[in-house]
Amino acid sequence: MTDTYVKIDLKTMAQNARNIVAKYPEYGTFIGIVKGDAYGHGYGIVNALYENGIRYFAVSSMEEAADFRKENTKAPLLCLEPIATDRISEAAELQLTLAIPDLDYLNSLLDTHCPYPFNLHLQIDSGFNRLGFKDKREIRKAADLIEKSPYFLEGVYQHYATAGIFDPHFDAQTNRFRELTSLLDLSKIPLIHLGSGIALMAHPKADIATATRMGLMMYGYNISPDSYGGGLKDRLRSMRDDYYHKKYHLSEVIRDVELDLTPAMTYQCRILQLKDVKKGEHIGYGAGYTAEEDIRIAVLPVGYNNGIGHQNNGRVAEINGRLFSFVGEMGMNMSAVKVDADVAMNDEVTLLGGKITLGMFSRFSGMGLAEIMLGIGKNNPRYYID
Ligand SMILES: *Cc1c(COP(=O)(O)O)cnc(C)c1O
Repeated sequence: MTDTYVKIDLKTMAQNARNIVAKYPEYGTFIGIVKGDAYGHGYGIVNALYENGIRYFAVSSMEEAADFRKENTKAPLLCLEPIATDRISEAAELQLTLAIPDLDYLNSLLDTHCPYPFNLHLQIDSGFNRLGFKDKREIRKAADLIEKSPYFLEGVYQHYATAGIFDPHFDAQTNRFRELTSLLDLSKIPLIHLGSGIALMAHPKADIATATRMGLMMYGYNISPDSYGGGLKDRLRSMRDDYYHKKYHLSEVIRDVELDLTPAMTYQCRILQLKDVKKGEHIGYGAGYTAEEDIRIAVLPVGYNNGIGHQNNGRVAEINGRLFSFVGEMGMNMSAVKVDADVAMNDEVTLLGGKITLGMFSRFSGMGLAEIMLGIGKNNPRYYID
């Protein structure tokens, strides 16, 4: 085995897919988001999803699409970013579904000769202010142009900026989407997809939606907002949410969704050296850590070059089911944890997985959930287990 290793459990991915599809029968099509090298899991996971009900996928570039197609040539595959029209024949070879962000792009696509009958999805900008149409007449015009073209308007979609749990933006975006698409006959367009995993879990399906997209969930994270416990902080949180709910007349929020999702990624490493450090000695760059007593440390082959960030506040590693704290600064490729006499050279060290959840990792590294998986998956040797 390599010094650091990321294990991706394909059975877990398959089970997550089955559970999601079974939980939300009101959606006809599930679009698995596999941008960013499938959130660091690699395209080796796509068939575990495809064979278990997630039958449509989305990537964010042609390069990702090419990697996807090495694993699966059948699934429809949407590219979320507009592909350069001078690469249209590559897109045809990859059998991509194309996202259309505005009329200029559509016109240049229609001017580019290509015999492949592309499916197209119109991107609607309902308030996120990234890609997409912001004018309903232009949206209508685009649909008319596509109608007369060799291509098929298969989808219309938008993306939410917030989770809509205690803010008015979510509902405002749904309403704006309705308004922007009001000159289209949505019943003739097979795939209307409004949001990502949090919209799926925290909100009832919008009547117009026929499909949903999700990323994090498939990789095993239940992102459902949790209900309130009995503590003071929870009571304050609940009061604040109630206040905003009334103030903005917010739509229903679903909490504590029971959906069995298991993280498919574990990140582990071996120990390079065990060493005794005397009271008063320093550890690492800047002599930043001083031993307050005689301690024992394990030196690990893990640093910010492994995609885990340099921030180290409260970071822990799990060895033999117990948690140990990092001591001293993260190096580029090396770091140390304070251990005890029970830890041995051959013990496996877990950095993500086991007792260490993505949420914990996010708190001590200051990184976002997807960012963590992406960094770990891309910067370490990865193994699929079946
Ligand atoms: C990344 C992305 C998603 C997936 O979001 P999750 O929060 O991981 O479910 C969905 N839709 C679009 C357009 C995205 O860019």
